[in-house]
Amino acid sequence: MSFATRRLWPILLLVVVLQACGREPTQQAEFFVFGTLVDVQLRAAPDEAAQPALQELQVRFQAMHRDWHAWESGELTDLNQALARGEEVRASADLLTLVRRSQALEAASGGLFNPAAGGLVKLWGFHTSDFPVSGPPPSEAEILAWLEQSPSMSDIRIEDDFLSTGNAAVMLDFGAVAKGFAVDIAVELLAARGLGEVMVNAGGDLRARGTAEAPWRVGVSDPAGGVIAAIEVTGDEAVFTSGTSQRYRQHDGARYPHVLDPRTGQAASGLQAATVVTQEGLVADAVATALLVAGPERWPDIARSMNISQALVITDDGQIQVTPTMNQRLEWAPGTETRKTVVTQEFSH
Ligand code: AMP
Ligand code: MG
Repeated sequence: MSFATRRLWPILLLVVVLQACGREPTQQAEFFVFGTLVDVQLRAAPDEAAQPALQELQVRFQAMHRDWHAWESGELTDLNQALARGEEVRASADLLTLVRRSQALEAASGGLFNPAAGGLVKLWGFHTSDFPVSGPPPSEAEILAWLEQSPSMSDIRIEDDFLSTGNAAVMLDFGAVAKGFAVDIAVELLAARGLGEVMVNAGGDLRARGTAEAPWRVGVSDPAGGVIAAIEVTGDEAVFTSGTSQRYRQHDGARYPHVLDPRTGQAASGLQAATVVTQEGLVADAVATALLVAGPERWPDIARSMNISQALVITDDGQIQVTPTMNQRLEWAPGTETRKTVVTQEFSH
């Protein structure tokens, strides 16, 4: 998990600068979406621009929550039922975008990120807001039956605004990217209303647009407590973490995190958390989930195949592994040096 803070000096500097040019100081608003409190912070935001934009955002967030929910009845659950019946269904612009982008991301991840795996998520009992889930995991037979049908985003055909599939096991669940896409939509909506210095923070997963004079400062949390590093966002970037500490199934002393490996049908293992930095929230969110599935050996390869140069993971035994680019830009907390390995990651372009 990560969290966002701001260093004192940029705030002071900001106030001075803003007073000098007669603009209003920072504004803040909170929304409850996807079971998470979304904190929106605005700088250089006059009331007359900020208030209508925040109201618009509220309406937009409510619609996303309703339309993309994986198990509460709404557009996505209707769509899933129609797909399972073999029908061709019209989808809204946002869902079409989620499907198209997810098809490309699934392919780039080698199938580790697979939002057509809603049936597997359901089988594991993770279509709930009540964590931890207790009781035994699904049986081998149930998992095998799902694996045999191997639903994939590539099973979905898109024609104009219509979706269809020949694989009745396809069940869309955008839990791994919804927050990322929502944060992108929010930042872009605010920018279009002239609000360019913003941070949209969905429970530690965020996208921020800052400036060199007043960067947003973001902390990367240690699952063991405290912070391992800080990141300063001066341009436009998203920071997303996928982790195992909050949502999982518990049974007979074993823990099964809510991120699942579509190749085996089993819960991801080996990593406690993966953090990704890139411009788009949607991409950062998808890649963080894929890296958690990839595990301690394969994650640098998957980051590369998904075109990501800034990532770090924390293994089950608390070791930090980080890409060279991410290592360079982070401000590491004292004591992290002995736990940290910089991996090699070569890009062909
Ligand atoms: P995140 O917290 O972003 O890693 O997303 C986790 C959520 O994505 C889970 O609660 C599931 O709804 C869904 N999910 C689990 N495993 C996968 C996977 N391998 N690919 C895509 N979505 C997944
Ligand atoms: Mg994710």
